Amino acid sequence: MERLYFSEEHKMLQEMVRDFAKNEVAPIAQEIDEKGAFPHDTIKKMGELGLMGIPWSEEYGGTGMDLTAQCIAIEEIAKVCVSTAATMMAHTSLGTAPIYMFGTEEQKRKYIPKLASGEMLGAFGLTEPDAGSDAANTQTRAVLTGNEYVVNGRKAFCTNAGFAGVIIFTAVLVEDGEDKGISAFLVDAGTDGLSFDPPEKKMGWRASDTRSVYFDNMRIPKENVLGDPSGGFKQFLRTLTSGRITIGALSIGTAAGAYELALKYSVEREAFGKAINRFQGVSFTLADMATRIQASRHLVYHAAWLKDNNFPVIKEAAMGKLFASETAMWVTTQAIQVHGGYGYIKEYDVERFFRDAKVLEIGEGTSEVQRIIISREILKGINAA
Ligand SMILES: Cc1cc2nc3c(=O)[nH]c(=O)nc-3n(C[C@H](O)[C@H](O)[C@H](O)COP(=O)(O)OP(=O)(O)OC[C@H]3O[C@@H](n4cnc5c(N)ncnc54)[C@H](O)[C@@H]3O)c2cc1C
Repeated sequence: MERLYFSEEHKMLQEMVRDFAKNEVAPIAQEIDEKGAFPHDTIKKMGELGLMGIPWSEEYGGTGMDLTAQCIAIEEIAKVCVSTAATMMAHTSLGTAPIYMFGTEEQKRKYIPKLASGEMLGAFGLTEPDAGSDAANTQTRAVLTGNEYVVNGRKAFCTNAGFAGVIIFTAVLVEDGEDKGISAFLVDAGTDGLSFDPPEKKMGWRASDTRSVYFDNMRIPKENVLGDPSGGFKQFLRTLTSGRITIGALSIGTAAGAYELALKYSVEREAFGKAINRFQGVSFTLADMATRIQASRHLVYHAAWLKDNNFPVIKEAAMGKLFASETAMWVTTQAIQVHGGYGYIKEYDVERFFRDAKVLEIGEGTSEVQRIIISREILKGINAA
């Protein structure tokens, strides 16, 4: 598979990130999960290595690679710490990509170099208490008043929000008392009227930052609307399409990390006088795990390749996200089973992967939403006839 999609440059990146993950991320993964501690130092080091801006051109301070490279890095970090990979994924795919794809030249120059170097963290607030899957039900409003927008509303579950230097958020743009539809806006940390809840106490992704964001008569300059104000809804749909490919990569890493632990344990653990992988009941489970992970890789890296080569990718991105995230949940469940009772104990890393997997079936569109997208794409034109 790697021969199909990975260039020499991709393979070098993979090796570099694998080393970094092993030496810098793995040793603290268990501890930051237990403490729910955000890994500031690791993120700083990742910025220094160019891992916080992989797909952006060098002109804007990025590494000048592509989405495939981004997926490779996410997968490698997730194999040892899903929380750290999720932070990097949300920062890049959600907290920076909309500026890179839709921002004005001025917005790009102002934010992307800082985001790409990791000096600044990005976040993306789309979900609201009453607008999750139904994102079009956004209640946050940005009312144009002179040269400013006055924003009121609330965003839920915003990853990185507490430590972000800039938050991209969606709101209904109101002009002359008229709703103009949903647009995306930028707000800098420290702006009056912007506030946060403490971080959510989560089942998994415990070392990532997730919290509610409040806009209370928050005033932002008119130029903080992201790119073309009339394109907001389309912008975030496009953002989510490529975001789904990267959450697919996060899912592969989650599954692969748990699989590797199960494989190792199956060699070390003996029952009835032999290694447990000598029992077909266990070796077949390992075979199914490896097969589903490989199938996920084909779907997700194919979607990344399509995106990198400017082909339509809505269906393939949703398929990759759906299959890889459900694979991650299935593989991590089986990995616990291979560990027997020890898999249920926190001392064993596999327990963390199991908890980290569940949200992959929820964030950036639930599995049900992915099925809606895929069925809509495959039935397009058929039902209309
Ligand atoms: C750890 C974490 C991090 C997150 N990070 C971010 C972030 O950075 N930015 C952001 O904007 N959001 C973020 N989210 C929010 C996430 O994207 C939403 O939780 C998700 O989109 C689902 O929305 P909801 O929770 O409101 O569920 P709901 O939309 O209320 O869905 C509840 C259930 O109903 C089902 N359902 C809803 N509509 C349909 C339908 N039409 N057909 C069939 N089933 C349906 C869903 O599939 C789900 O099973 C994050 C969430 C978590 C838990």
